[in-house]
Amino acid sequence: MSASTPQSNAFGTLYVVATPIGNLEDISARALRILAQVQLIAAEDTRHSTRLLQHFGIRTPLAACHEHNEREEGGRFITRLLAGDDVALISDAGTPLISDPGYHLVRQARAAKIRVVPVPGACALIAALSAAGLPSDRFVFEGFLPAKKAARCARLEAVQYDPRTLIFYEAPHRLLESIADMRDVFGADRPAVLARELSKTFETIHDSPLQELYDWVAADANQQRGECVLLVAGYQEPVEAVAVTPEAQRVLTLLMAELPPKRAAAIAAQITGARKNALYQWALDNKPAER
Ligand code: SAM
Repeated sequence: MSASTPQSNAFGTLYVVATPIGNLEDISARALRILAQVQLIAAEDTRHSTRLLQHFGIRTPLAACHEHNEREEGGRFITRLLAGDDVALISDAGTPLISDPGYHLVRQARAAKIRVVPVPGACALIAALSAAGLPSDRFVFEGFLPAKKAARCARLEAVQYDPRTLIFYEAPHRLLESIADMRDVFGADRPAVLARELSKTFETIHDSPLQELYDWVAADANQQRGECVLLVAGYQEPVEAVAVTPEAQRVLTLLMAELPPKRAAAIAAQITGARKNALYQWALDNKPAER
């Protein structure tokens, strides 16, 4: 186990810094201060990040840390950190490591007892979830689906009965195929949300069942452009209509003549042994019209 509290060694700190996913105003004051203060920035794409840093007048040197060199070149950053330099890790957009490079570097740093500090900020999946209107108390982030249909469907089938909200990243040119597979695996009526171009000019957050979402995206080429997050409601057990026996109905009807539905249902449940919720629902459905 390694503690994440400040270490007393003379090593530098690795800061994992979130950058905007579109709107540059979404960078935090702390992120800007740290990017300006560290001795080196490890960036997924140095050319891309140079533009971001220039915009904010930050002149810290950059070095590449992308998925192809991260494992091998990670040692170079670790050497600097061990020598006492502070390093900031950034990706092209949003939070590093979230469908972005950085995992190996963070692992190596922690294994070397180097302090790793997150500097939180934008993350497309969280931004999408915060505005989607789907249950957000429990969710699963599935990242990018496989490009090949068979593997994609297998991945979808693995979460078909998961009750948590499902979140996927998708490339615009595969959006329609993925929605079609989701519809086929999860069902045409499963609620879904497409969150596109978040924090940018053409931001769109559209909710509808999967079949309707497919039709809507298919009919409008603009919806197949830009960056997108797909969210799908988790599996819900079909609600079985619980039968209320004629005897329970008789008792409940008598009680309802004297008592409000909730109280009548509670007493009828005690008398008949039927489920209180089912009785209450029956009472609401069969309440005598007010005179
Ligand atoms: N690290 C990033 C994060 O924190 O969200 C994600 C990087 S991943 C390589 C890029 C994917 O994130 C895109 O293909 C898209 O699915 C999603 N994404 C990034 N920016 C987005 C935006 N502004 N609106 C919607 N989705 C976005």
